[in-house]
Amino acid sequence: MAALNRGARGRRRGLAALLALGAVVLAGCASKPPAEPPAGDAGPAADIAELRLRDLSIPVEGVRAAQLRDSFTARRGPRLHLAIDIMAPRGTPVRAVEDGRVLRMNANRAGGITLYQADPSGRYIYYYAHLDRYAPGLAVGQTLARGDPIGTVGSSGNAPASAPHLHFAIYRVDPGGWRWPGTPVNPYAVWRAGDDPR
Ligand SMILES: [Zn+2]
Repeated sequence: MAALNRGARGRRRGLAALLALGAVVLAGCASKPPAEPPAGDAGPAADIAELRLRDLSIPVEGVRAAQLRDSFTARRGPRLHLAIDIMAPRGTPVRAVEDGRVLRMNANRAGGITLYQADPSGRYIYYYAHLDRYAPGLAVGQTLARGDPIGTVGSSGNAPASAPHLHFAIYRVDPGGWRWPGTPVNPYAVWRAGDDPR
């Protein structure tokens, strides 16, 4: 009987884990087997609601929300994209989506020339990648105002040279600090949730 109960509990746990995994994959926010949200954390929907209140600017000059495409859950090799790509001609200005401090400026193989910006509360990170170049004078530690220039659209890193774009991601900073990829939040859902026209 004890063994039977253990078996049933194990199956229930297995089912619960599968349901949780399904829910998170459907919400489009996992690049690895996802961790359970901490107690009291309403998950990605709460992040999207919170970020929508801030009315973030679209980071590529001249692009409107209605022009955005959702590629958050698209496959990129073995991983999910967990970001959106905003297509624009090379050299188009890229601007801060809201106020916040420059956390990191570096080049990596996939993202090319990148910039990480903290939001004003320190609870989210905005990631801008494939830049052609940085805005002159930009430095780590500097505080950006919404709309301040970050750089220009390019194809640095692994972006095709024929298709320059801004790869833009939002990460939630979880308790204990942020380590890539943390908890990505779909920028498309922030700008287009409910698909209200803008
Ligand atoms: Zn991308």
